[in-house]
Amino acid sequence: MSWYAGLEEICRTDVPLRDYTWYRLGGPARWFVTPRDESELAEVLRRLRAADLPWHILGRGANLLVRDAGPPGAVIHLTGPHWEAVQFDGPVVRAAAGADFPKLVKQSVERGLGGLEGLAGIPGTVGGALRMNAGGKYGSFADHLRGARLMAPDGVVRARTRAELGFGYRTSGVGADIVLDATLELVPGDAAMLRARFRAIWNEKHATQPPVAAHSAGCIFKNPPGAAAGALLDRCGLKGTRCGGAEISPRHANFILAHEGATARDVLDLIELARARVRAATGVELELEVQVW
Ligand SMILES: Cc1cc2nc3c(=O)[nH]c(=O)nc-3n(C[C@H](O)[C@H](O)[C@H](O)COP(=O)(O)OP(=O)(O)OC[C@H]3O[C@@H](n4cnc5c(N)ncnc54)[C@H](O)[C@@H]3O)c2cc1C
Repeated sequence: MSWYAGLEEICRTDVPLRDYTWYRLGGPARWFVTPRDESELAEVLRRLRAADLPWHILGRGANLLVRDAGPPGAVIHLTGPHWEAVQFDGPVVRAAAGADFPKLVKQSVERGLGGLEGLAGIPGTVGGALRMNAGGKYGSFADHLRGARLMAPDGVVRARTRAELGFGYRTSGVGADIVLDATLELVPGDAAMLRARFRAIWNEKHATQPPVAAHSAGCIFKNPPGAAAGALLDRCGLKGTRCGGAEISPRHANFILAHEGATARDVLDLIELARARVRAATGVELELEVQVW
């Protein structure tokens, strides 16, 4: 009997992950599971544990490079009404993990609630934004977070405050847990001013980065202490460098684009080439921001 007997409605096999990642790259998930609520999620985790199978949790795949062979085990995707619910209560908003983050940012701005407008142009889900502490020079996801509920791999649900979640630069203490929802406390303000700030930040990104719709995963490398990864890569003359169908963006050297026909291998080869060039020229060892499965 298969580990997912009775759960066929929410478990598909050999699902191409290229359909679920911003890069449009990557091999299949052996099992692709879409639990509809928390009790189904807990049951899926229980079954995977009993079968001793590894698993990954997938948001919008905007910070992800999936290898051509696909990841081992199962991929869990939080989609559907339960996982996409967003509730505003005055300046407090509770958003489920699968809610679209850019949409949440826009809704907050339109309601005259400040705090998220600096995160314009960051694709993904609320769960992914929390796990990565997504952000940039105008703030980070954690800045206005009150707390979150997480499910541990053993199915136990715990509420954590922002302090308990241990945020840092593009990191959190989420670890192997699954984010279920997040509660943010925003700041009442003037919708027109917030809209103007949102647009200004969006325009700044649009002018300096590849278009959001291009096949990338945002910044490939984290900024090393005291430096910008993009500037180091640029100084090494890497803009426009290609491996197969992968190219270092001519506009922003910390973005690797996947063109028609690219493979995940091409992107990985280009990552290694870029890292080696920066290491040789500056002695800096660049650390990946993008998650590789
Ligand atoms: C064009 C472009 C621009 C970008 N700009 C920025 C930027 O300015 N700043 C920035 O920080 N990032 C940026 N990114 C990267 C990306 O948008 C963020 O990291 C985003 O938060 C990822 O969310 P996601 O839902 O797509 O997560 P995924 O890419 O699906 O997953 C990322 C990680 O989060 C984990 N995860 C996802 N959901 C959950 C959950 N519910 N519980 C626990 N773990 C979970 C995954 O397992 C994985 O480890 C950009 C990406 C693109 C394509």
